[in-house]
Amino acid sequence: MLPALCMLIDTHCHLNDPSFAGRLPEVIARAREAGIGACIVPAYDRASLPRTAELARQYPHFIAPAYGLHPWFLGQGMDIDALRQYLVQPGTVAVGEVGLDFSPECPPPEAQLEPFGTQLDLAAELGLPVLIHCRKAHDELLKVLTRYKGKLRGVLHSFSGGRDMALRFIELGFHIAFSGSVTRTTAKKYHKTAAGIPLDFLLVETDAPSIATQATPASQVEPLHTAEVARAIAGLRGSTFEEIAQATTGNAGRLFNLNIIPNAGNDRDRSLQTQGRGLSPPAGGHKARPFNEDKNF
Ligand SMILES: [Zn+2]
Repeated sequence: MLPALCMLIDTHCHLNDPSFAGRLPEVIARAREAGIGACIVPAYDRASLPRTAELARQYPHFIAPAYGLHPWFLGQGMDIDALRQYLVQPGTVAVGEVGLDFSPECPPPEAQLEPFGTQLDLAAELGLPVLIHCRKAHDELLKVLTRYKGKLRGVLHSFSGGRDMALRFIELGFHIAFSGSVTRTTAKKYHKTAAGIPLDFLLVETDAPSIATQATPASQVEPLHTAEVARAIAGLRGSTFEEIAQATTGNAGRLFNLNIIPNAGNDRDRSLQTQGRGLSPPAGGHKARPFNEDKNF
């Protein structure tokens, strides 16, 4: 068991994916044993909105919910009023998962930009950070986020760009989150980025169950693997695991307005609350399309 200072936050995982249904108690118990104090769980399509809210109700001290429409699911149409109803619930920590994905099989860029902008506007209005998915669209994303400079914070989740691009997003006030891809020995670009950005803007995540680590296939990845991500980053930066854990948990706490009580009493009493918003609502699925290492959610 890890000491309190080693608590980690999985800042992006899909415990709302149907593949986790029926085994969440064990998954969460294993995460806690591995020192994971909390998970941020983003909805991604219309059906996942109520499931995510239900999960947050069931696990109020472990799951912090976010709500948004992922670019892969824009074909469902976005009900902005319904989305807003979720976002204003107490305990919501972010708008997401939203973003831009210009991979050929995705909706055309012109169909993505407006709903993305609408959701960014909502985040700015509500004062919530945004969880951003970006594939093959970093230049366009930079343009869009530049228009929100000073009005919006958030995270580039499972970042797939290079170090120079990461630094440009950091200049705009965005955090950079690394997932299991940084643990792969061949992922030299990610290694350079993870080693070369300011610690104050670094976050860790698993994106479970979408992204493999060096040791674990994607389908078996759980929040507990956040520790493997943090350990890899520590190695790349010449830091200790404890330094990375402390820094990234602090960064997540500030970005998402979390009040984390480390090791209150014992490991299982670790508690998560949101300041001013009170963590609450909450359960169900996220795998409407196959993912692999290069098509992570
Ligand atoms: Zn995701």
